[in-house]
Amino acid sequence: MQVSTEEILEKIISVPSVTDTENSEVVARIAEVAAPFARVRHLPNAAGDRTALLLSIGPEARPGVVLSAHTDVVAVEGQPWTSDPFALTARGDRLYGRGTSDMKGFVACVLAALPAFAAAALETPVHVALSYDEEIGCKGAGDLVALLAALPAPPLLCIVGEPTGMKVKRAHKGKTGWRITATGRTGHSALPHRAANAVTALARLAARLADLADELRHGARDQAFDPPYATLHIGSLHGGGALNVVPDKAVMEFELRGIPGADTPAILRRIEALVAEARAALKAEAEEAELAVEELSSYPALATAAGSAEAAAVARLCGDNGPPGTIAFGTEAGLYSEAGIPTLVCGPGDIARAHKADEWVARDELAQCDAMLARLAELLRRPAADWITR
Ligand SMILES: [Zn+2]
Repeated sequence: MQVSTEEILEKIISVPSVTDTENSEVVARIAEVAAPFARVRHLPNAAGDRTALLLSIGPEARPGVVLSAHTDVVAVEGQPWTSDPFALTARGDRLYGRGTSDMKGFVACVLAALPAFAAAALETPVHVALSYDEEIGCKGAGDLVALLAALPAPPLLCIVGEPTGMKVKRAHKGKTGWRITATGRTGHSALPHRAANAVTALARLAARLADLADELRHGARDQAFDPPYATLHIGSLHGGGALNVVPDKAVMEFELRGIPGADTPAILRRIEALVAEARAALKAEAEEAELAVEELSSYPALATAAGSAEAAAVARLCGDNGPPGTIAFGTEAGLYSEAGIPTLVCGPGDIARAHKADEWVARDELAQCDAMLARLAELLRRPAADWITR
């Protein structure tokens, strides 16, 4: 039986599949909708408390198309919602609920299109890749990307349905985030020469990183991005408790966002060298002192060429609604692209409405996505190489 996009959206919005929590309920609801039309593969993580889903339709020995989405949503605590975030609420043309824009709206459109894909996919297979924990650094997509890239016929195209107002986006910056914990030696503030000040150590490191950030403004540029250079940002720096005590603990978090094609490894080496210098300086004051570095999250940049056959094919699917652009936010697209699958970003909703109270998607936006997927269903009757052209 054909189920509408809005009915499916209602069903999946009502599961609070918040990032960094177990996700069996949302997986079960999606698998139930998909099972009559697609081969459903469950990809559990090592701990068994998260599962990614791969829904496949059509002959796997031929190269196909991937539709990618994450099923986690950001938390709602402390946000002034005017309706239940986990109950789809219609007001006029707008549908409110956590995840309507980011990105269960796209998931609902794709699930509603499965019967059309199943009716059409004789030549070109379609794979729907649904990850978890995307919002904390694309943690749940790795197994999906590896499985798809290792298929006998790797996919020729991936569309990540993050909210772009159904405009085609071809590139975004890559990002790595870190936490540094400095451990020094405490003491009386009158005797700082016998202690090792963790706050001073990280304050000095922060200043060096800020200098490097200034330097990056004058480094490699790509005018397709705003700003058109790599950014290095310090998000937090905490430490110390009292004026008369030398602090022995301080914690800092910072991130690098690199433009595609620029020499990001060289910037990473500069950061490593600054951290090593700060560590050595702190250890010179107290041999037991340490600077511990944790990587919090990392995803690669996306840089599909504006004039590529894949960008042209997705533009046609969207009804030629403008040239492919870039986005300021990161997505799982960089991971697919890095694995050799040409990838574009295009989906219903607006990133400006995501992660906030009263997140919404317009019925009209969902209809545009439904139309895009209907055009795709027709093309699945032909080999992908025939229509992924300039
Ligand atoms: Zn998202």
